[in-house]
Amino acid sequence: MVYSSQVPHWLKREERVSFRLTQVLTGHGCFGEYLNRIGREATTNCHHCGDDLDSAQHTLEECSAWASERRVLVAKIGRDLSLPAVVKAMLADTENWREVASFCETVMSQKEAGERGRERADPARRRRRGGNHLDA
Ligand SMILES: [Zn+2]
Repeated sequence: MVYSSQVPHWLKREERVSFRLTQVLTGHGCFGEYLNRIGREATTNCHHCGDDLDSAQHTLEECSAWASERRVLVAKIGRDLSLPAVVKAMLADTENWREVASFCETVMSQKEAGERGRERADPARRRRRGGNHLDA
C-alpha cells in the first residue's frame, strides 16, 4: 500500500498524478472494498467479475474483466503486479510510469462508468454517508 504521505514525492516527478492513478495507488476510489468501508456499498463484491473482494490489488492483479489491459501492462513492466513492484517499476522508468497510468485511466474510467450506472439505477446510493468522497 502506498500512503498519502508519499504523494508529494510523486508530484515532484511528474507534473500531475492523475486522479485515477491515485485511486489505484491509495486504494481510495471506485473499489468495492473502499465503497463498502465508507458506507456506499452493502458488500465488497467486484461488479466486473463477481469476486468477493474488489480492491486496488484485485483490480491490478486479478480481476478477469481487465485481462487484456493487464496483458499490455505485464508486457511492459513484468509479471509482478504487487503494489511495491509496480511503484518500483514506475520510478525506474518513465515509460513504465506511462503504462501504469494508462492502465489506471482505462480501467478506472470503466469502473467509474459502472458506478455511475448503479447510481442512476438507485439514486439513494449517491446520498449515502461518505458518498461525496468520490465526487472530488
Ligand atoms: Zn473483479
